[in-house]
Amino acid sequence: MLNQLPLSRISGSTFPAIPDAHASTQLALQYQLESSQWWPAEVLIQHQLKQLHSLLQHAVSTVPYYQQLFKLHKLSIPNALTLEFLQQIPISNRSAVQSADNQLASIDLPADHGAVEFSTTSGSTGRPVKFARTALTQTLWLAFALRDHLWHARDFTGKLCAIRWFPAGVASPPAGAHHPTWGNIVAPIFASGQSASLNVVATLPQQIAWLMQEKPDYLVSFPSNLVALCHYATTQNISLPKLLEVRTIGETLTDQNRSIIQQGFNAKVVDIYSCEEAGYLALQCPESGHYHVQSENVILEIVDKNGQACPPGKAGQVLITTLHNYATPLIRYEVGDIATFGEPCTCGRGLPVIHKIHGRKRNRLILPSGENIFPYLGEHGEITRATGVKLHQFQCIQHTVQEVELKLVMDRDLTSEEQAKITILMQQHLGYPFQITYSFLSDIARSSTGKFEEFISHVSA
Ligand SMILES: [Zn+2]
Repeated sequence: MLNQLPLSRISGSTFPAIPDAHASTQLALQYQLESSQWWPAEVLIQHQLKQLHSLLQHAVSTVPYYQQLFKLHKLSIPNALTLEFLQQIPISNRSAVQSADNQLASIDLPADHGAVEFSTTSGSTGRPVKFARTALTQTLWLAFALRDHLWHARDFTGKLCAIRWFPAGVASPPAGAHHPTWGNIVAPIFASGQSASLNVVATLPQQIAWLMQEKPDYLVSFPSNLVALCHYATTQNISLPKLLEVRTIGETLTDQNRSIIQQGFNAKVVDIYSCEEAGYLALQCPESGHYHVQSENVILEIVDKNGQACPPGKAGQVLITTLHNYATPLIRYEVGDIATFGEPCTCGRGLPVIHKIHGRKRNRLILPSGENIFPYLGEHGEITRATGVKLHQFQCIQHTVQEVELKLVMDRDLTSEEQAKITILMQQHLGYPFQITYSFLSDIARSSTGKFEEFISHVSA
């Protein structure tokens, strides 16, 4: 489990270490998580149901939204709670949660859940969702982040670099920001090396220059940014020989982008499936690479359009029930992603397996027939090859069931003949003769939290 000893807080004592109170709490959680990950599925579910029972009772007695929902649907919590009962609770989608607003907050939060902090989702294409975090949810967030480090046996003495979203003026290029440790997930518990961060607004040449200077062992960033960096590094014949692992966060990592990043950086790629409302939902298995649901923190369901549970292999909507957020309980909340469960993992862990995360529902292409599909946008480099003009950034936006706009950042604007070539290509990829319009820009902005979405649909399913 641990590849190094925790820090001891008693003078003259190093082994076995005597950690401080915060570190002890985190290590106590790891001790339990180390055990619970191997429990058979039915044992895990029994423990989840116990926790869920407490959460549901809290929600119906102190959260107006759930009081009304349970009353409206004549639901009362049975003493012997089952998953079948959970499945009777109506799904709450994003717009229901947005409209509920303050009705979703508990009016009587147990004091020992600690200080409450309010947060909103980025809502790059819609209204944001407002939710609260407590000291307890933060403690658990740190525990699952640490579990990810321990699963992947990261060497905390290495150098960690992150290129991610920061408010304007923070970790600005060219220098970025430097920290003596790996920060609040690791440093209170283990001795760690240095870390550095750079604001994702940095240009690709700035990012590469920064990485060459920092020489990271571990790098964290958004998939779209990493793909762009790989392409740029390849054209400049630059490599990062010290880099061991690239961790991807914040966007759906497609198979194609995974292999581009793996080959481009010649490093292991580890993805994290999380959401702003609930934190870590699934982590990649250190043995098989599948995603394991973090069942100690969340009940994750995948359902079809009729709300029926999808068997392994069938894609559906992801619903989450957060087990520990008593300030803003989320019960069967449709997070907006499409995913597919897989068969139990060969590693032996009982944590459910997600075989594939297909991406955000809002990022699906709606065909005039009403069918929605995950859009295939073609191979990287294809637009450059077809026109001879270098493509730097690409975004595809569906405005109506007939119209799609391509936003392109290129060395120059395309002529109408070149546009016609790309139109034919895109119509083939998208599987329908959409009317395609072009916008040539000098830059395509990221969402307010730094995510870059290659495909956005403004059409509702
Ligand atoms: Zn596994």
